[in-house]
Amino acid sequence: MITASPTSRLSPPLPGWRELWRDAITDAGELLAAVGLGHRSDLLPPDDAGFPLRVPRGFVARMRHGDPFDPLLLQVLPRVAEHDVAEGFAIDAVGDMAARAGHGLLHKYDGRALLIASGSCAVNCRYCFRRHFPYGEEIAAAAQWREALAHVRADTSIRELILSGGDPLSLSTHKLQELTRGLADLPHVIRLRIHTRLPVVLPERVDEVFTEWLATLPLQKVVVLHANHAHEFDDAVDAACGRLRAAGATLLNQSVLLRGVNDDADALVHLCERSFAAGVLPYYLHQLDRVQGAAHFEVDDDRALALMGELRTRLPGFLVPRLVRELQGDASKRPIADFAR
Ligand SMILES: *Cc1c(COP(=O)(O)O)cnc(C)c1O
Ligand code: SF4
Repeated sequence: MITASPTSRLSPPLPGWRELWRDAITDAGELLAAVGLGHRSDLLPPDDAGFPLRVPRGFVARMRHGDPFDPLLLQVLPRVAEHDVAEGFAIDAVGDMAARAGHGLLHKYDGRALLIASGSCAVNCRYCFRRHFPYGEEIAAAAQWREALAHVRADTSIRELILSGGDPLSLSTHKLQELTRGLADLPHVIRLRIHTRLPVVLPERVDEVFTEWLATLPLQKVVVLHANHAHEFDDAVDAACGRLRAAGATLLNQSVLLRGVNDDADALVHLCERSFAAGVLPYYLHQLDRVQGAAHFEVDDDRALALMGELRTRLPGFLVPRLVRELQGDASKRPIADFAR
């Protein structure tokens, strides 16, 4: 039962983001039927390779009907190829698991500390490094936050706290409030950055309570979205981005270069243009983390560089993302550039 809100005189009550989250599709047969591929039993995966299927219905609605190669569908539908064993593809692709198992704070780069604020996501992306680590909500436990914040408090070189995951917006706004209260008396922390896929896959998450919290934070605010294809944007996503900007956030987008999803120049140009139409600047284009089960998504560096060359000729410089790879032990994301090879 959905209770009426004060605004319901103006508009019919809508389900809250929690309900939409719970209502996600988790069954491959149901997903295929929803996109008009119910008759294609050959597309039914034999199993989920240990990483459950999960996708919100609003995201499914943006998939092209009847197209087994739809770039959104390919990101979420388990495939037999996930069982392929490929050389160089590891369980812990970026070597973060030691830190993730502790208090959840990763301080690998100067001035920036990254907190694994939550292990949950509204969508399970098949290429994700997280597929082998179904770490749960407990990462957000208060005791661990205290420990993480104690580290941030003690190290005055940390200018920016990054909330990541999983998806930090899987936490209630109340929880996020608790967390940022702990930052209130830390003058060296001037910026809060949130890495999240939720405004794209479940834009209803960017509700009034959330934007009010964000707007009142006495920090610089950056929200890094994660969209891989122009079709991930629709009116609801545009509106969510508008609300985030109105709350004072700078919006950036990071994508992963994925074979069959966005590894052609038209798709990438379209993505960069479409995200900017929503007020979002392209930030990074990541080479895939080499995680076991995702090898079929990999695009080699030569092809990636050729694509970047095309993007530079077809887009204004400020809409060209930086092609990078994350490597264990590096002091930053590593740019992949023609001259550096
Ligand atoms: C990616 C990452 C950051 C942020 O790096 P930027 O280049 O500033 O976006 C910070 N900390 C960790 C541990 C990271 O993996
Ligand atoms: S962490 Fe990001 S890429 Fe990985 S499953 Fe969650 S939303 Fe998808």
